[in-house]
Amino acid sequence: MAEIGFIGLGNMGGPMARNLVAAGHKLRGFDVVPAAVEAAREAGIEPVGSAAEAVQGVEALVTMLPAGQQVREVYAGGGGVIAAAAPGTLLIDSSTIDVGSARAVHEAAAAAGHAMLDAPVSGGVAGAAAGTLTFMVGGAEAAFARGKPLFEIMGRNVVHAGGAGNGQVAKVCNNMILGISMIACAEAFTLADKLGLDPKTLFAISSKASGSCWAMLNHAPVPGVVETSAADRDFQPGFAAAMMHKDLKLSQEAAGQAGAATPLGAEAAALYTLFVNAGNGELDYAAIIKMIRGEG
Ligand code: NAD
Repeated sequence: MAEIGFIGLGNMGGPMARNLVAAGHKLRGFDVVPAAVEAAREAGIEPVGSAAEAVQGVEALVTMLPAGQQVREVYAGGGGVIAAAAPGTLLIDSSTIDVGSARAVHEAAAAAGHAMLDAPVSGGVAGAAAGTLTFMVGGAEAAFARGKPLFEIMGRNVVHAGGAGNGQVAKVCNNMILGISMIACAEAFTLADKLGLDPKTLFAISSKASGSCWAMLNHAPVPGVVETSAADRDFQPGFAAAMMHKDLKLSQEAAGQAGAATPLGAEAAALYTLFVNAGNGELDYAAIIKMIRGEG
């Protein structure tokens, strides 16, 4: 079994690292928050004092950090892992970050002789704990082949999306579809209700008709139609509106840089900005229906 470094032991990284330990790997873990390090120690992860130490003597390093700024700092900043890692180390960033930062870090890693993968996930904290995440992976074929056995411990669905940064591209495009679809569902269920059609009846029809979509089938924003919807538990997440907001902003940043027109993505980002700025970031993303209904 391999020795693996893990940086960022938060809501996602903590359980992902624990699954690697449970599969028999030896882990070195680092986080800037002492409580996260302590929880990792209790789970059998060897705590270390810096990002550079986390990559000492390991075959692979996984990072699960908040955003591009922390990823750039941890990899390429002073005392960063790119300078500290032995040549040939496999570096895997599973954070959701902007495509530009992902590609810049790939380039710096390659220049230092390391293999690198951007490997953002979907599936949330529950998927991280259960080891059922989806990994969308960008990077060279040979690096992907090395990382795949680790992804298969932490996840169930592992897809090689192409070259450097393509994992992040897949993630922002997928979540832009999800955000737009959720708003479409919220509008349709609100309209049906106002026109006197029971939302349960609309679900029974649309979930099997041309209006069906993943957001409706799994997270319909009205109670009593689908067990997995946060609408059945006062919109406790689930997938927080703040996370959807982050991903939609990343999609718009990428669209701007690529010169792609994404008018509905832009509208979805604006609606989630309003919703989150009104103090709803901790609610599930399906709670956007409250704003569509004009509730607070
Ligand atoms: P989190 O805030 O719980 O965890 C991030 C961890 O990184 C924290 O423990 C923090 O202390 C640590 N950290 C920050 N800067 C650091 C540094 N310089 N060095 C070492 N550690 C540092 O966030 P999370 O929910 O675990 O999300 C992590 C990533 O996964 C994000 O990019 C997020 O967008 C993505 N993601 C989250 C979810 C979800 O449902 N939570 C789902 C899919 C993807």
